[in-house]
Amino acid sequence: MLLCAPRGFCAGVVRAIESVERALALHGPPVYVRHEIVHNRHVVNSLRAKGAVFVEELDEIPDTDAPVIFSAHGVPLSVPEQAKKRNLFALDATCPLVTKVHREALLAFRRGCEILLVGHAGHPEVVGTMGQLPAGAIILVQTLADVDAFVPKDAARLAYVTQTTLSVDDTAGIVERLKARFPQIVGPRKDDICYATTNRQEAVKRVAPQVDAMIVVGAANSSNSQRLKEVAERSGCPRAVLVSNAGEIDWDIFGAISAVGISAGASAPEVLVDEVIDAFAQRYELRVETVMAAEEGGVFFPLPRLLREREPAE
Ligand code: SF4
Repeated sequence: MLLCAPRGFCAGVVRAIESVERALALHGPPVYVRHEIVHNRHVVNSLRAKGAVFVEELDEIPDTDAPVIFSAHGVPLSVPEQAKKRNLFALDATCPLVTKVHREALLAFRRGCEILLVGHAGHPEVVGTMGQLPAGAIILVQTLADVDAFVPKDAARLAYVTQTTLSVDDTAGIVERLKARFPQIVGPRKDDICYATTNRQEAVKRVAPQVDAMIVVGAANSSNSQRLKEVAERSGCPRAVLVSNAGEIDWDIFGAISAVGISAGASAPEVLVDEVIDAFAQRYELRVETVMAAEEGGVFFPLPRLLREREPAE
């Protein structure tokens, strides 16, 4: 078994989960959370058991003094505006690397640019980023065909940003096409894909060609987990599956394999990886090695300010 490293939790996910835990410790339950704080059922259920109440929209929250936390994916501006109107105690757990993309888009808008967002329609991060600016200011491009079909208002005033959890290789192709079609387009040096997405994909790329099967632990609605499965397939692994836990593994598809790779999306806790390793150990003679693509030890994002200021009551 080759364990991809890094895998699992990133600094943005740790910060978001700790924000909910800290809010619970400081204010007691309930703590409302708009949308799944991170895309993982195990995480959501364990926070729910401690007193977090998950909602999709603020309308579902009664008038209350309890904290209301926005998820790591970011929210459209209309959400904090609505929270303010209702006097809700809002805490923003948006990952700082998503906030960085919001800022890039805002700066480009202020410079009078039309902005292209490379991303996946409907993903909460994309909804949040598009919602930073008035309707129509940001145009979503998902494919090379979208780039080819795009007609700018002014090719000299164009900017692009990207979702943070995309495929590094697909995005490079789309950005290349954007730059080829619109040489004056401005944007980040390469893309806005975050360090965690990049490193997890790199580890999977190294492991995939060496194994008969790859298991990615993560949720079906987790963008970066889905990308890891795709990267494994494209890097030559004949069987790549995304499972949310060991119980979902279909053992029939593995058979007499001699090497398996394991990775986990940025929102998947390590305990779920441990369960997968245990499940293999029960069925196969197992030797485990780690394949390290990057060190991430130093990456840490401080909690939102309002959660940093006070110590929880004993
Ligand atoms: S995957 Fe990247 S952008 Fe998303 S929460 Fe983690 S560090 Fe932040």
